[in-house]
Order: sequence, then structure tokens, then C-alpha cells
Amino acid sequence: MALELRPNCEFCDRDLPPDSAEARICSYECTFCADCVETVLANVCPNCGGGFAPRPVRPSREWRPGVSAGKQPPSARRVRAKFTRAEIEAFGAPIRGIPPEKR
Ligand SMILES: [Zn+2]
Ligand SMILES: [Zn+2]
Repeated sequence: MALELRPNCEFCDRDLPPDSAEARICSYECTFCADCVETVLANVCPNCGGGFAPRPVRPSREWRPGVSAGKQPPSARRVRAKFTRAEIEAFGAPIRGIPPEKR
């Protein structure tokens, strides 16, 4: 199954189109912008506690038959975080000092 490629940052709601170099995802595809991951989340996903990695860009061109952003289009469903900034920071405080591979 292809990545969902969610259209926005779940915290600040800025657009993150499928070719964005600013999109970050956790292993569950929770999606945030690079700014929020660094300045608000401290590399702690507020939904699962995991770390983030850059989201790969899906090719716009069909280099192989049936495989491209046109054939597997990005999600149009905007997702917003269920938590306030204070809740996110309180959740992340005991986790942020632990490297993601040790969480
Ligand atoms: Zn953001
Ligand atoms: Zn997550």
C-alpha cells in the first residue's frame, strides 16, 4: 500500500503537497512540517512518541507503468492534531531526550 501523502501539517495546517521537501512523517504517517517538528515537537510525534523522517516525494512522472503521483494521488483529507501546544510539549518532555531508535 502506498503512503497516504497527507496534504497538510497536522499542527500549523500549512500545505504540504506531494513534492514538498518540508514534509516529515512518523512510522504511522502522522505528518508535520519541518519547522513544527523542530520547534514545537522536538522530534517527538504527539500521537505515537516516535521520531520523524523526511517524507519521500512521489514521482510526478510515470517512470514505470501505473506508478506515479497521478496513478496513486495524494490524500485530500486534512488532518489536525487533537492536542494543544501545551499538551504536546508536556507529552514530549520526558521523551525528547531519548533517541528515536531507543524509544
Ligand atoms: Zn507545521
Ligand atoms: Zn506518530
